[in-house]
Amino acid sequence: MDKTASRKSFYITTLGCPKNTADSSVIHSSLLNEGMIPAETPEDSDFHLINTCTFIQSATEETIQTILSAGEIKREVDQKLVIVGCFSQRYPEAIKEDMPEVDFLFGTGKYDQAGKLLKEAFPLDFQDYPEFNQDLLDRFQTIPLVENYSKPYSYVKISDGCNRGCAFCIIPNLRGKFKDSSDSDIISQTQRALLAGAKEILIVSQDTIYYKKNEIELADLLKRLADMEGLEILRPMYLYPDKKTFRLLDYFPTIPKLAPYLESPLQHVSERVLKSMNRSGNYEFFKELYTKARDVMPGLEIRTSFILGFPGETAEDVDSIIQFLEEVKPEKVNLFPYSPQEGTKGFHLEGKLSDREIAKRVNLVRDVHLKNLETIHAERLGKTYKAIVDEKAEDGIWVVRRLQDAPEIDEIVFVEDDNLKVGMIGDVKVESFAEYDMSGSWVWS
Ligand code: SF4
Repeated sequence: MDKTASRKSFYITTLGCPKNTADSSVIHSSLLNEGMIPAETPEDSDFHLINTCTFIQSATEETIQTILSAGEIKREVDQKLVIVGCFSQRYPEAIKEDMPEVDFLFGTGKYDQAGKLLKEAFPLDFQDYPEFNQDLLDRFQTIPLVENYSKPYSYVKISDGCNRGCAFCIIPNLRGKFKDSSDSDIISQTQRALLAGAKEILIVSQDTIYYKKNEIELADLLKRLADMEGLEILRPMYLYPDKKTFRLLDYFPTIPKLAPYLESPLQHVSERVLKSMNRSGNYEFFKELYTKARDVMPGLEIRTSFILGFPGETAEDVDSIIQFLEEVKPEKVNLFPYSPQEGTKGFHLEGKLSDREIAKRVNLVRDVHLKNLETIHAERLGKTYKAIVDEKAEDGIWVVRRLQDAPEIDEIVFVEDDNLKVGMIGDVKVESFAEYDMSGSWVWS
């Protein structure tokens, strides 16, 4: 008899940001360690876990909708529905009262205990459980996440929580104080991802530059990871735009395999609004930061984000963002309409703007970025970039990504070529573009 026949299977649906993807990977390992096996679809699983997000209102709505849809699946098959992560951390009582389809929940900070928690909560399901089987563990351990399997990149989380207390952000309430992951945990997460076929490792956390409170430690960690066998591309994400990040840039040219990329979300450039957001920095500092990034690593591209419509924001404050975009031209810009979150300092601030006015400001700034993007794209035409093949889009058409772009959030290049394979690294020539994405050809040497 197949030894796996009576093992309980699980499927993890992950919502939200790449940090949640990294957490799901930890849950995945914990469930494997308890002898559970991954299922290919939610319908096939004994335990369907949803790792949730509640960062802004739209994320909360998506979470609720996903739980309700999972409840529909559960009605058709015999399975347990388990809610984990930020939403269950924030609203445990409401879930228990209003969502009878949910069988069990736990919050943030317990991902590595997921298997034990399920065993304790459902002892009958784990009766007469087959013995721990190292072969089985090894086989599935190399799949960081079923839904991410076959992608040539993976996320590694180096810390959790945040001490900054930005006035719009609920994350510190949900994730608690900043804590570094242990070195052994970071190395084993990376090893597992590389064994599963990842070529690119994205370093994620709530506050990456705060790692061991020192940018030299972060640079050392990146160098150690760059030495690991199989790693081809290294990409630290979420570098808070402060003096530590400014100093870290000095190390960029010395870190092997580092992608020519800086993600440093500004959220605003008006010093007055930044202060009210409880954030540091100003227009001139951010301009220096981005200029230095481009100087130390030629060809580097920048991803940032802005929140529009924070309480008290004036038309002049919006103009300062527009001026910044026109002057500095960051290549990738995410725009968020401010949405007040209960439990944050911003929730109680005076000077709230209407949704309509906020949407108007977002559109105004987006138009400026889209205009920039046309020039940025035009400058890429005919140029060749180092790139990685991410996946097959359709017959003969592949999704290729320049190293200047992060997976899932940045631009891609569509390439028609029958000879490509997932994970190939080489050169792509950009030949045309649409609003955000490009088309091109693979350069065979
Ligand atoms: S740095 Fe600010 S926005 Fe980022 S997680 Fe911390 S509090 Fe939230």
